Amino acid sequence: ESEIYYEDDADTSHILNKTVAVLGYGSQGHAHAQNLNESGVDVVVGLREDSSSWGAAEDDGLEVATPAEASARADIVSVLVPDTVQPDVYENAIEPNLDPGDTLQFAHGFNIHYNQIRPPEDVDVTMVAPKSPGHLVRRNYENDEGTPGLLAIYQDETGTAKQEGLAYAAAIGCARAGVVETTFREETETDLFGEQAVLCGGVTSLVKQAYETLVEAGYSPEMAYFECLNEMKLIVDLMYEGGLGEMWDSVSDTAEYGGLTQGDVVVDEHARENMEQVLEQVQDGTFAREWIAENQAGRPSFTQLHQAERNHEIEQVGAELRSLFAWSEETEDEDETERVT
Ligand code: NDP
Ligand code: MG
Ligand code: MG
Repeated sequence: ESEIYYEDDADTSHILNKTVAVLGYGSQGHAHAQNLNESGVDVVVGLREDSSSWGAAEDDGLEVATPAEASARADIVSVLVPDTVQPDVYENAIEPNLDPGDTLQFAHGFNIHYNQIRPPEDVDVTMVAPKSPGHLVRRNYENDEGTPGLLAIYQDETGTAKQEGLAYAAAIGCARAGVVETTFREETETDLFGEQAVLCGGVTSLVKQAYETLVEAGYSPEMAYFECLNEMKLIVDLMYEGGLGEMWDSVSDTAEYGGLTQGDVVVDEHARENMEQVLEQVQDGTFAREWIAENQAGRPSFTQLHQAERNHEIEQVGAELRSLFAWSEETEDEDETERVT
């Protein structure tokens, strides 16, 4: 059972007298920086000099400096640049500017857990990770609402890492909703497994293969799109609201019977074995090594896979259909469809 913390458990004095360098002003960075600032914390945003985000951060009333300058001034360095560039930013801008007793703060555990960043022993290393895209972290805060988050302590040199982490979580609004205690290992491995097996990988493969099955059997691409992709949202919304039970209660008995008898036929014991293999490669670092090498090589496979996915027939059919229907949500704020996992 994980411990869950709320605002009453947080003592904001652990952060109100400190300076936080928020490195990066993207999805998470802009939300953490503005929420911390409005909670009364001294914030300096760290960006490279030619950064496209520099003006945005200044327009939002924040002070901006280079990542090295911001890190030098800070007691807490919140590392919110993309995971793939964090080791480089750490080596060049953060590490030379870490003082004993400072805190390295993350929103995802990849680089610490897979040893791509090896912090010195005399600093605290923490994670406060909102379980949501940054734009919702910001919007919820503005509406006096919270965003659930995770808290993990990797290194507690000062003896106050947890109190400081809770204070940080409160200052960005997470403690209003609830902060679940975890570890860097658990967060990293469950996050990678979840996005590979279900959220990003599993679900898209299921959709594409079901679509292809119908189209190859002679059914119209439009019908296949509606059945296999469009309706997914309605089903997921129900599961999100009330679990699997609310979904089963909302569909017809025919759908429930067919779903209960055929679901495990489609996603059978082979799929389960494959999932176990995916999890093993997350746990033993195989996936991490592959992804790091892929980045070092300039992303040849990623680029090709990315393009092939965009070129799948279901994408053309879907774009066409969405443009024809009044319920189209294509115009919604694109930022909100950013990476959630
Ligand atoms: P983004 O991709 O949104 O971050 C982009 C920001 O980083 C921009 O301000 C960009 O500025 C800056 N940046 C990029 N490269 C560099 C560089 N080499 N040096 C300095 N700044 C750079 O990141 P996210 O917010 O998505 O992710 C940040 C962290 O949060 C990650 O650890 C991620 O796993 C975690 N996380 C993300 C979630 C999300 O919803 N996105 C959810 C939970 C956790 P510019 O390029 O203009 O210089
Ligand atoms: Mg410092
Ligand atoms: Mg995730």
